[in-house]
Amino acid sequence: MPRPIQALIHPDALAHNLNVARSAAPDAKVWAVVKANAYGHGIERAYPGLQSADGFAMLDFAEAERVRALGWRGPILMLEGCFEARDLEFCSRLNLWHAVHNDAQIDWLATHKTTWPHRVFLKLNSGMNRLGFAPAAFRTAWMRLSGLTQVDEISLMTHFSDADSEGGIERQLQVFQAATEGMAGERSLANSAATLKLAAAQPEVRSDWVRPGIAVYGSSPDFPQHSMADWGLRPTQTLRSRLIGLQQLQPGDSVGYGSTFRAEAAMRIGVVACGYADGYPRHCGTGTPVLVEGVRTRVVGRISMDMITVDLGPVPHAGLGSEVTLWGHGPHGSVLPIDEVAQSAGTVGYELMCGVAPRVPVASAGEGGE
Ligand SMILES: *Cc1c(COP(=O)(O)O)cnc(C)c1O
Repeated sequence: MPRPIQALIHPDALAHNLNVARSAAPDAKVWAVVKANAYGHGIERAYPGLQSADGFAMLDFAEAERVRALGWRGPILMLEGCFEARDLEFCSRLNLWHAVHNDAQIDWLATHKTTWPHRVFLKLNSGMNRLGFAPAAFRTAWMRLSGLTQVDEISLMTHFSDADSEGGIERQLQVFQAATEGMAGERSLANSAATLKLAAAQPEVRSDWVRPGIAVYGSSPDFPQHSMADWGLRPTQTLRSRLIGLQQLQPGDSVGYGSTFRAEAAMRIGVVACGYADGYPRHCGTGTPVLVEGVRTRVVGRISMDMITVDLGPVPHAGLGSEVTLWGHGPHGSVLPIDEVAQSAGTVGYELMCGVAPRVPVASAGEGGE
């Protein structure tokens, strides 16, 4: 008997969410961002749900090979470009478009031998201060690239630091527009937050290509301001398990390591086969939402390596073997947004979906779980 924990990936929900992003940016093309193994979903498992994308964006060359191996012949964009000169061989062989964000990458291109010139995305640092040319250096970089026989089309890109929050994008948008003024080429600016919040109203934000990631995977980019449901998104990853133990507590009894939870009245506790070694965050304390048989209840006590303990008060009919939904789709149409669990752990949905442990078996499934 395998341990009952399981992760489910929902291709229909991926396709639905990709459509939500597309509808928000009607005349733009859509990069489905599949970095980090499709945000922990598994590229091969996510692919059937993402085939209506106009291209795939990532940063690992091994992942680009996997997308080509699946039969994808359309655009692939390497978001961080080449890490060393040799990576250009991959770009030539697999026909990968790649970001150019520093002078070393231009130097490598200048000495690269290729039959087909490359499509590159020149990246502007418009204020995030991670990757990209400073505004004052941007035009020089563009001129250098324009002079290379190794380069075909030059597109222009930048990345927003505050699209999901108060700061917004106006300042960075202005910097981008000033630095790229008069330059030919397609443009790409918007991540999920900018796509959902602003792309419909602002053509210069949706531009030619939007780059949604997290929204495609059913997490709200600006939670808790908006929930997954507010944006019309659906969970694409479910983590589920079963009750493998039951305990009856009397007033004053405690649960788990450190006895951090103590019962005030008699209560029934369920023990779930899921712990931090499965990727469930140890920071999820008492009160973190969880579904038992589709009924919402809460974690009590500390998360252990292999087990968590939950309050069965709201679910009197629960027993050994009852289904437990840690996040995603539960039975009878129930849903537990990954964002709510992440919030309880002081983190974001991204980290949870990327962090499901290798020991958890994964299957593809409909949103009903079958
Ligand atoms: C990860 C990433 C995205 C997608 O961001 P989300 O917040 O997941 O939508 C877009 N562009 C770049 C350059 C990225 O690295």
